[in-house]
Amino acid sequence: MKTFFINLLDWIYKKKCYFCRQSRESVKMCSKCYDSLEFLSYGKRLAIDGVSVYVAGVYEKNLQKLIRGLKYHNQRDLAFYQAKFMWEYWQNITDKKDFVVVPVPLHKERQYKRHYNHMELVAEEFCRLSGNTLNTKLITRVKNTKPQYKLTPSERAENLHNAFKVDENGSNCDKILILDDICTTGSTFTEMIKTLKAAGITDITCFATTTPKL
Ligand SMILES: [Zn+2]
Repeated sequence: MKTFFINLLDWIYKKKCYFCRQSRESVKMCSKCYDSLEFLSYGKRLAIDGVSVYVAGVYEKNLQKLIRGLKYHNQRDLAFYQAKFMWEYWQNITDKKDFVVVPVPLHKERQYKRHYNHMELVAEEFCRLSGNTLNTKLITRVKNTKPQYKLTPSERAENLHNAFKVDENGSNCDKILILDDICTTGSTFTEMIKTLKAAGITDITCFATTTPKL
């Protein structure tokens, strides 16, 4: 009986928009809430060691709720909307489909606890939409780092020092597009770029869903 009610609640819950809770559309994010997401201006946001970094939006309002829902509240269906938002932005940057898309990896212990890597789900959907190729094996996180948001910029860099490792068979990969959800100081991208370059991979682009509001 208990299972029945849980299933019923799940069913009712899924019929409503996760954001406004009132749309009649039977989707996780209704068109009105999706259309409320705002893009940053199209173009390179910053450069890290010669690598271009693009950011699609600001970490606030529904975009923040979208990212947090997927990352912390097990709302896996939201990956599609995050990927769609990134893809719509990305089409204004390039229409090339020859990227090897690499989501920022989680350490295996954290992935085990969370049951999934949220950026892997986003990257899967992004590749489906864009026609680029997903690679989740190229680079792994070998150090179980602390969450970055609690740290100062210098602590962030230290926390991530030697956190990543490139797969030995992956060094023939080129044209990498790294995807992350939030780019604050760029320390995660910086460390991944350093690791990839040390493995001989130099054609790299970074793309984050959001950056915090200034
Ligand atoms: Zn809605």
